[in-house]
Amino acid sequence: MTSTLKHIIVVGGGTSGSVLAARLSEDAHLKITLLEIGADDDSYDAGVLDPARAPEAWLGMQPVAISPMAYESGAIPMIQGRLLGGTSAVNGLATLRGLPEDYDGWAAAGHSGWGWDEVVETFIAAETDRDFGPSPIHGVHGPLPVRRWRRDEMGRAQLAFYDGMMEVGARKVDDINDRSQLPGLGIFPVTMDANVKRVTTSRAYLTPEVRARGNLTIQTQTEVTSLIVDGRRVKGVVLSTGEAIEADEVVVTAGALWTPNLLMRSGIGPARHLADHDIKVIADLPVGETMSDHIGPGLRYRHDGPRGGTAGPAQSLLIGASNGVDIDYHAFPIAPPLSDGPTEFVLAVFLLRSSGMGSVKLAENPNDGPVVTAPPLPDDANERLHHAFKRIAAWETSAAAKALGCRPVAPLDLNAPDAPAIARERFTISYGHMTSTCPMGAVLDADCRVVGMEGLRVADASMMPTIPSGNTYLGCVMVAERIARKMMAEQKA
Ligand SMILES: Cc1cc2nc3c(=O)[nH]c(=O)nc-3n(C[C@H](O)[C@H](O)[C@H](O)COP(=O)(O)OP(=O)(O)OC[C@H]3O[C@@H](n4cnc5c(N)ncnc54)[C@H](O)[C@@H]3O)c2cc1C
Repeated sequence: MTSTLKHIIVVGGGTSGSVLAARLSEDAHLKITLLEIGADDDSYDAGVLDPARAPEAWLGMQPVAISPMAYESGAIPMIQGRLLGGTSAVNGLATLRGLPEDYDGWAAAGHSGWGWDEVVETFIAAETDRDFGPSPIHGVHGPLPVRRWRRDEMGRAQLAFYDGMMEVGARKVDDINDRSQLPGLGIFPVTMDANVKRVTTSRAYLTPEVRARGNLTIQTQTEVTSLIVDGRRVKGVVLSTGEAIEADEVVVTAGALWTPNLLMRSGIGPARHLADHDIKVIADLPVGETMSDHIGPGLRYRHDGPRGGTAGPAQSLLIGASNGVDIDYHAFPIAPPLSDGPTEFVLAVFLLRSSGMGSVKLAENPNDGPVVTAPPLPDDANERLHHAFKRIAAWETSAAAKALGCRPVAPLDLNAPDAPAIARERFTISYGHMTSTCPMGAVLDADCRVVGMEGLRVADASMMPTIPSGNTYLGCVMVAERIARKMMAEQKA
């Protein structure tokens, strides 16, 4: 009986991989093996689940595994979570969909099945929105518990930013996942339980009931080093132990940095780059050549007194500029809550509509991990940032900012036309929203199959043809949900 099941290996039990494995294992005709390099989520450090302590992970201070980014150019560190749940276990919890026009753009570019009217159904089905559901745009039956930060949970800096921006003329938005309310300023929704604990995709989807399914095997602490390829057909994976596991289909969900790394190490990537590394070329595809991210200046401030609030990092706020929904402001603390001295926080300003292209390449020794080059900001970035900086300069004069007593760590005249250029030079950070390293249209077809290959798909942030105008985790959930549905439909056909 077991031998008749179609065996699917999912490589990487992160944000997308946990969703995919859980959904695919609903089909009793499938046998699913989920392979994750990091630890299981029952071994999470308490700091992983406490949103207030997320900055510790970002600063490498927590005993939570972050995948080592051995190389990066431009000194912009980029990280991915390396444990079951992946980056959903270390991110800022912000739960945004992006804009309808992002996905309609995907569909218009020929990626059928990915238009807003289609993906919004999946966003609704994935969530239980405790503030706005049920409604035409919010659901109450999905695995992800979603709500907005309450004022009593927010830190003093976040409150001062929110209140101060309102004082200087921002437009209040209750639900920033509702396009009809934008542009404006709203509190980010977050994926979090009633006890103010982070809910990772593994915890939301790989529940004890799901784990009890006989057709699902989860192997953590298991590194996949290459794909087994016969001609153009992928027949399984090889582990770092040398063990080979055969399968009928492999879905790679190792994240936007490690998915292209695995493909290239297996001979799927730019022919010249692979040849430079003496890797036999199986498919000449532009893997890793079109990475996007949201990057931008993070302005550091200090204030005296406690951080305040009961929760931490991601009481973040979004505001649309007058030219559309373009700017994302985040106010988050960067110092651990128990440290002595003044409280430090960052006002990060990101351009949501990014057009730059970064890259992921192999290191000289391909086993050393990806070499990442951040995408440049678009040509009009200074102009767009100038608009945002003027608003922050106005915020600095607000009664709320003054009452907080905040002061910039590195003073900068935010009204000066050259402020964006200076800030970019000195304070640019990555949002961690790396996408598009194996995009549909160039590397994948609209069903996320690797072009020219059989038995191989990619279903994580890598597949996005363009980066959505919002934080990327929920998009990854949506992608995994939709690909699981497609694969199960294929199975039935
Ligand atoms: C600091 C930070 C903050 C962020 N904040 C937010 C936010 O607030 N809101 C938001 O929407 N987005 C946020 N993001 C981005 C978002 O979390 C990611 O885009 C998303 O989680 C990526 O999902 P993924 O499935 O593509 O990859 P991941 O979730 O990274 O999963 C990849 C998985 O593959 C595993 N893996 C890798 N290589 C191998 C291998 N060879 N063998 C086996 N397993 C392997 C990894 O361990 C990992 O578990 C943030 C990102 C960062 C870095």
